[in-house]
Amino acid sequence: MIELEKALQIIRKHLLFPGMETVPLAATPGRYLAEDLRADRDMPPFNKASMDGFACRKEDLPGPLEVLELLPAGQAPSQHVGAGQCSRIMTGGQVPEGADCVIMQEYVEMESEKRIHFTGNYSESYICLRGEDLKKGDMLLAEGTFLEPQHLGMMAAVGKSRVRVTRRIHTGILATGSELVDVAEVPVGAQIRNSNSMQLAAQVRRAGHTAEILGIVEDDKDLLVEKISGLMERFDFLLVTGGASVGEFDLVPGVLQELGFSSEFDRVAVQPGKPLTFAQGKGKVCFGLSGNPVSCFVQFEMLVKPFLCWSAGGEMPHRTIRCRMENGFTRRKSDRLFFLPVVLRPGGECAPVEYHGSAHLHALGELAGFAELAAGKSTVKRGEEVDVRLI
Ligand code: AMP
Ligand code: MG
Repeated sequence: MIELEKALQIIRKHLLFPGMETVPLAATPGRYLAEDLRADRDMPPFNKASMDGFACRKEDLPGPLEVLELLPAGQAPSQHVGAGQCSRIMTGGQVPEGADCVIMQEYVEMESEKRIHFTGNYSESYICLRGEDLKKGDMLLAEGTFLEPQHLGMMAAVGKSRVRVTRRIHTGILATGSELVDVAEVPVGAQIRNSNSMQLAAQVRRAGHTAEILGIVEDDKDLLVEKISGLMERFDFLLVTGGASVGEFDLVPGVLQELGFSSEFDRVAVQPGKPLTFAQGKGKVCFGLSGNPVSCFVQFEMLVKPFLCWSAGGEMPHRTIRCRMENGFTRRKSDRLFFLPVVLRPGGECAPVEYHGSAHLHALGELAGFAELAAGKSTVKRGEEVDVRLI
């Protein structure tokens, strides 16, 4: 059994490199940027009014001021603002030469069409200065960024209509267990539905890659060997769920070895999610994940997601926040790093979801993240702060 940190170090040595492609800007959410992007010009590109009002010289206030011209957004000024002068300007308009402030129209009295005076107190200039956001050539987004909607706005602003991103890793997902039936079937007796494959496929897609669900194989060594060896021809990356533990029918680790894969570890000191095989060979990688739905979910978040993210050139994908526990929590065994599923309260506290063991999927229904309890820590007091890894 190895620690999570050690497991992460190992998987980092066996990343896949899916290559790059160029896609239209609109297709980039959920992709990993494969180039550094810089500002193609100063942003804002000119001194810009941030209020509707009049552009003038501070020293001339409160006026009266002569109005020179009207400057809607998009129209370049034609006149220099000199002593005793101003130009009517709209939000987003270019501030004319000579003016060093914009006075809000709410504090302006019109003496005539061409003559105003200021009735307020001068406080702010209401000008966004050229280049105050970014200078031409400044870094906008670094290679490896996982692209989300706000990044599309940034890329659009610098004219990136086509963007270089990492190719997606096409992930095969296989479930094994003689008790499993397909989601659309009605289970009888001791059968249960295969819920993990759908869950894993959605996790893979959320991590920016593609997934293909490949059905169910019984707990039968020969069938597994045949199925997995066929799949490894088609896929560089395979997730197998079920049969990864030490029971009599937990055949996956042995099958992977028989197929010539090298097993880098087969258990990780986390709870839930200890039994887990990481095998690789000939440029192919396979995770054998637990069949328990909660364990399987956690194993994906803690190990498979970093693997997919790093392989695509990204950084560690999760965010961690400090939260106070709403109520105390005690666990019976504290030998492993524990990921406690929690919900977040509106006041910023977290609370454990009701949780009876790693098979109980409904624990994940309102999940916001996992509170991390180090090995050896069995009790969290009410009000004590914990790290919560958001998902
Ligand atoms: P295993 O990891 O094969 O020992 O399975 C552990 C538990 O998870 C057992 O109760 C299985 O019935 C259940 N299980 C295994 N595979 C799946 C699956 N694909 N979907 C839902 N539950 C599963
Ligand atoms: Mg099983």
